[in-house]
Amino acid sequence: MEMSRLKRHLAERRENRRIASERISTLFKLARERFDREPELAQHYVDLARRIGMRYKARIPVELRRMICRHCKSFILPGKNCIVRIRQEREPHLVLTCLNCGKHMRLPLKHKVAFFQKPKR
Ligand SMILES: [Zn+2]
Repeated sequence: MEMSRLKRHLAERRENRRIASERISTLFKLARERFDREPELAQHYVDLARRIGMRYKARIPVELRRMICRHCKSFILPGKNCIVRIRQEREPHLVLTCLNCGKHMRLPLKHKVAFFQKPKR
């Protein structure tokens, strides 16, 4: 590929990825807002966000990734369809139990946990 075409191609890909990241954030926000009334719609939004992430190789930020069960890919929210426990063995960590599949996810607490923050309006 000639240089200018390659540059254009890379710039396009970067732009697509940026748009993909914005869509992913929006979809998670919508999923959180709709979850109480329309859990199936919320799940659909999150599935869509994951597909966009894969299609454009846009990484889903860690604070959003925590809201997807690692095992069954359900959209999970603490106090709704997942249980959060703090454990102190070895190093402090959270154990999330997904109430859809019953499996656990272990989250180290060394990083700031944005999981409990309320969605911004
Ligand atoms: Zn699960």
